[in-house]
Amino acid sequence: MRGEMDEQARLAALKEYGVESGMSEPSFERVLSLATSIFEAPIALLSLVEEARQVFAGSRGISVCETDRESSFCAHALDSDELLVVHDALADPRFERNALVLGPPYIRFYAGCPLRGAKGHVLGTLCIIDTQARPRFSEAERSNLRDLAALALDKLELRRLELARQKSQNLFEAMAFNSPDAIACLAEDGTVTFWNHTAERLLGHSAERMLGRNIGSVAPANLLSTLRVLASGNRSLTNSQTARFEFSDANGRPLQLELSASVWRSEGIPTYCAVFRDIAERLRNEARLYHLAHIDPLTQLPNRSLLRARLEDALLDESRVSIMMIDLDGFKDVNDTLGHPAGDAVLCAAAKRIQSCVRTSDTVARMGGDEFAVLLRRLPDPARAGAIADAIIDKMGQIIMIDDEPVHISASVGIAMFPKDGATAQELLSGADLALYDAKSQGKQCRRFFTQDLRDAIAAKRAYLLDLADALSRQEFEVFYQPLVSLADGRVVGAEALLRWRHPAKGLLNPAAFLSTLEASPLAVPVGEWVLRQACQQTAYWRTMGHPDFGIAVNLFGAQFRKGNLAGIVIDLLEETGLSPQALELEITENIILRHDDVITAPLVELRKAGVGIAFDDYGTGYASLSLLKRYPLSKLKIDQTFIQAIEESDEDAAIVQAVIYLGNRLGLTVTAEGIETEDQCRRLKEKGCPQAQGYLFGRPMPAHEFEQRVLRLRQDD
Ligand code: C2E
Ligand code: MG
Ligand code: MG
Repeated sequence: MRGEMDEQARLAALKEYGVESGMSEPSFERVLSLATSIFEAPIALLSLVEEARQVFAGSRGISVCETDRESSFCAHALDSDELLVVHDALADPRFERNALVLGPPYIRFYAGCPLRGAKGHVLGTLCIIDTQARPRFSEAERSNLRDLAALALDKLELRRLELARQKSQNLFEAMAFNSPDAIACLAEDGTVTFWNHTAERLLGHSAERMLGRNIGSVAPANLLSTLRVLASGNRSLTNSQTARFEFSDANGRPLQLELSASVWRSEGIPTYCAVFRDIAERLRNEARLYHLAHIDPLTQLPNRSLLRARLEDALLDESRVSIMMIDLDGFKDVNDTLGHPAGDAVLCAAAKRIQSCVRTSDTVARMGGDEFAVLLRRLPDPARAGAIADAIIDKMGQIIMIDDEPVHISASVGIAMFPKDGATAQELLSGADLALYDAKSQGKQCRRFFTQDLRDAIAAKRAYLLDLADALSRQEFEVFYQPLVSLADGRVVGAEALLRWRHPAKGLLNPAAFLSTLEASPLAVPVGEWVLRQACQQTAYWRTMGHPDFGIAVNLFGAQFRKGNLAGIVIDLLEETGLSPQALELEITENIILRHDDVITAPLVELRKAGVGIAFDDYGTGYASLSLLKRYPLSKLKIDQTFIQAIEESDEDAAIVQAVIYLGNRLGLTVTAEGIETEDQCRRLKEKGCPQAQGYLFGRPMPAHEFEQRVLRLRQDD
């Protein structure tokens, strides 16, 4: 019952703030903007929890006016004085089924600080929200959130007073007497008619002394005129509801005060009401939070958000601006080998070096990690920007001494010019990024200017990726089958499953056209599994149709290993399709082995034990050492087609082929020669004792139905 009454009192207190859903109040927006910058959070909200809903006094990163109280995170934060931090909503039983977690805005991380109003009730929260889980929320971050909440509360209190001031004088005086703010009422000539307790305390002058005296005796000369302007509410004279004053109290102690004012008339005679608040603490806090939001704590350089703001400013009033992105080459090695303190020292040294190459009017910023940016204003021409970039690259290439250790790094630079390369800050920054990416891929330690070609290439790649994302659901992928032949008797012993994309506009595409994009995208796993299922189903069917000894080889993506449980997935698939493990062979390339050494052996050993074959594809093309052959549970080596195709002209290639066949025989591995196109190549491989072959000579990769007619039918006739 008591809880119920508390809640009624809380709801009554909340009303005094006059917050409505969907309102837009610049001072709230400013706090929220600080919050999103400091915490790098996409969303920040100032929410007040009403009886059945929560309304937002301000929102950033999301357009929302209110939600029902039931699903509100903030309602949970009301119950305690402490911050409510939800590191991962999906792993929290209180929130895992919450509509705001499962649907837009897809909340994963939430940190909310309760806002306790002047009457002691918790009104709502200031909260930040991320769509990614955050495993950590440090003490310093907690303290920053509390400071921001205090700032928000200040603004709310200001609003409450503003509303209260609009009520009748008696009510006002009763309230003002005990107000936590200093309040004075003045006649038109400045004579003090009311002076509350807090005014006595704050300004050091007693009510007894002040009543009947002119405010001018203790206040700056322009106070009365400012008061009149503020009280008039005339927006052409003032664009704020408050004014700041430097004041001295009775002991000469300087005070920083914020003044707000109103006026009422009784029988035509005006009375001014002045509310003073001591804002020194708030100003200090604001300055600290501003610093935190805009300055990189390690290098003390402007951070990404300040650089962006300055770039936007520059675009407004300058005709030529250049933006440079700088990335340190080899920085990761420094961090990995010499440790993070050394890495930090290198970043500070790099910051100084970049600064030494530009004018003081230019902005050098740290964008994050080992990436810096330079904003050059009033720049005459691209050649000048190029020369500055060269100077930076040159300087950065010089040895840095860290704890008597020489450290070598270098820098790559991407440059975009306004107005040529873009009209907005976003376009220029992304243009410089693309140019930097180009410089990096061109061998590093160099500079590149943005060109439209770079953006076109990215756009084409993005469009391709979008197409690719739909290809699986639109059933545009197909599996082709290429025969695998036993050289001793020419009999087809199986097939390799090869992926094709029937693109709606471009026609039938080979892997060369899309595989690298696919491999780098999250689709690699589902597509890889789809190929595996298709191939297993098809082979199981063929084996029941008169080819009980027919086998299938399927290529794997690295991502299928990284996802985990590859062995379990394959074994389940074999069971589901009824294919015997001995009929399946999985092909892996060196790329997979070299990049994922540790995650790859265990599933392969398990699969090999279950009877599945493991083939080393494209053998001989890369850096794979012979010792790799011992480390992996292989059953086959596939000699890459480049050796086969050169076998007629090059003795060296012939020798390599011979050596691999010998090696395979000695290690008990089957050897398949790939890419046989001519009778002569076939004859030479037979002579060298190669057991199996694959190539256009025996058949190109083809759709399943064609494979049945052209290959399997003949095989049945054997
Ligand atoms: P791979 O696994 O080495 O497959 C052999 C490639 O050589 C196939 O190219 C095949 O069409 C081609 N080939 C076969 N015989 C000849 C010949 O006599 N002459 C010439 N010039 N080429 C021949 P394809 O189908 O374009 O596939 C290229 C690569 O893409 C494959 O090389 C494989 O690494 C990858 N790939 C294909 N399908 C898949 C798949 O489903 N999953 C994964 N992870 N990779 C796949
Ligand atoms: Mg292969
Ligand atoms: Mg191959």
